Amino acid sequence: MIFVVLYAIAVWTIAWRFRRRWPAFAAVLLAAPPIVLSAHFDVWLVRTVFDEDASWLVTLASLFAGIIVFIALLLSFQPRSKPSHVCVVCEYDMRGLSARTCPECGAELTEDTPKPQRARPILPVAPEGSLAIQLADNRRDRKRESSKLSAVTKAAPPATDTPITTQ
Ligand SMILES: [Zn+2]
Repeated sequence: MIFVVLYAIAVWTIAWRFRRRWPAFAAVLLAAPPIVLSAHFDVWLVRTVFDEDASWLVTLASLFAGIIVFIALLLSFQPRSKPSHVCVVCEYDMRGLSARTCPECGAELTEDTPKPQRARPILPVAPEGSLAIQLADNRRDRKRESSKLSAVTKAAPPATDTPITTQ
């Protein structure tokens, strides 16, 4: 009896720990057979040793197995709370990625899935020919002019080695 209770707790723990993943469903599938088989073994043992019919054990074990499987199934279907930055399928950490598909499993991220990265606010674009653009152009031109000047001075440094002699 205590074995059945411990067994049930073990199955439910696996079902909860791995809920919505294959180990949980494997636990659900494999939970019932050992209980029913061990009950059949007990019935056979009682019949062999005491020559008594204990087939009610199988009925009881089946009932327990049914309850265990039912609760394990409920647990294994409970939703997982996932952090918003992981893939909904494989839980790949997608922080810093702007891709709409998971690089690990290739899962397409649908619109209702939380975005891995918050979208940047769109900066207001200055209209063409506005004062801001003109100012920026002027500044760029001035910079280009000054860089041209410095290039010229570098190419032809003032000749100071040969003193100019006057006759
Ligand atoms: Zn994935």
